[in-house]
Amino acid sequence: MTVAPRDDLALMDGYHSPQLDVAVRLNTNESPYGPPEAWVDELAGALGDVAWNRYPDREATALREALAGHHGTTPDRVFVANGSNEVLQSVLLAYGGPGRTAVTFEPTYAMHSQIAKVTGTAVVQAERADDFTLDLDEVDRVLADGPAVVFLCSPDNPTGRVTPPEQVLRVVDASTAAGALVVVDEAYGQFAASTALDLVDDERPLLVTRTFSKTWAMAAGRLGYGIAPAWVVAELEKVVLPYHLDAVSQLAGRLALGHVDAMEARVEQIVAERERIVQALDDLPVHQWPTGANFILFRPDEGRGDDLWQALVDRGVLIRNCASWPRLADCVRVTVGTPEENDRFLSALKESL
Ligand SMILES: *Cc1c(COP(=O)(O)O)cnc(C)c1O
Repeated sequence: MTVAPRDDLALMDGYHSPQLDVAVRLNTNESPYGPPEAWVDELAGALGDVAWNRYPDREATALREALAGHHGTTPDRVFVANGSNEVLQSVLLAYGGPGRTAVTFEPTYAMHSQIAKVTGTAVVQAERADDFTLDLDEVDRVLADGPAVVFLCSPDNPTGRVTPPEQVLRVVDASTAAGALVVVDEAYGQFAASTALDLVDDERPLLVTRTFSKTWAMAAGRLGYGIAPAWVVAELEKVVLPYHLDAVSQLAGRLALGHVDAMEARVEQIVAERERIVQALDDLPVHQWPTGANFILFRPDEGRGDDLWQALVDRGVLIRNCASWPRLADCVRVTVGTPEENDRFLSALKESL
């Protein structure tokens, strides 16, 4: 005996990121390094002081103050949640929902559409230009239909494309006129040369998300946040569950902000490795797209993406197979790993091509 779920859920698949047991895993854009040992020790020590019989600080005051300090803003402009995915969900609960529409520019992060649908928000999937940059005419076209939420992703996953701040501003200005909230997902923001964070202003309907999952090497901890006008943060606070962010996550994030230098050193190292891989790919028979993230999207000039992906798996290297994704025929995506992992990827790739 079963019970029927909502009609619209019956049509949906869950989100999956297939894992295989191979030596080199470069498929999910995680940090190849663990977080700084000093942070792990500090957190272990601080856990002894958690008042386990009490609910955590509902306002997450200390964490929000620390994040505000980190970004040169005020705590009332900081919304914290269980990963940036919960920030996105909160945005859609507050600003989406039945009768409202969210816009994405494809190809982009599948969770934007997925979470929208789960919250009953209609989704309009607009197109990026052929080179995967943002097409401003397309932006104007979809804004004319009066969406409630506009998603940008910069650097974009899976293409790696960065939307320059002047283009983000152009989208925000058009959205202000259309009454839409713009969300810029900057899960990979620290790997890029530009950010939309400086554009956040009480007069602009703009929220920028960041996460501890990628650059901070804390994907296991589930911590993300959004920087937005205080009037947006106040609405998001209304839709989250009481005490949604547990005491340990709050502590983990606050202590991590004492290790910004270590985080920045990792980012620098990964960006240097990314550039090394980009140069190596330049000499191989593949097409790659410019990237500002910790991953590279590319496509073999000849042969099928599926076959290339399998040939790499056979050599102990797992990357992401995007070959069957809409608009990404024969494409694969590799996450930047440690120098040793990247060497193994490059030699397996040369053999496979
Ligand atoms: C990985 C990723 C996230 C991270 O989500 P968390 O919930 O913070 O772990 C968000 N957006 C994009 C585009 C991503 O690729």
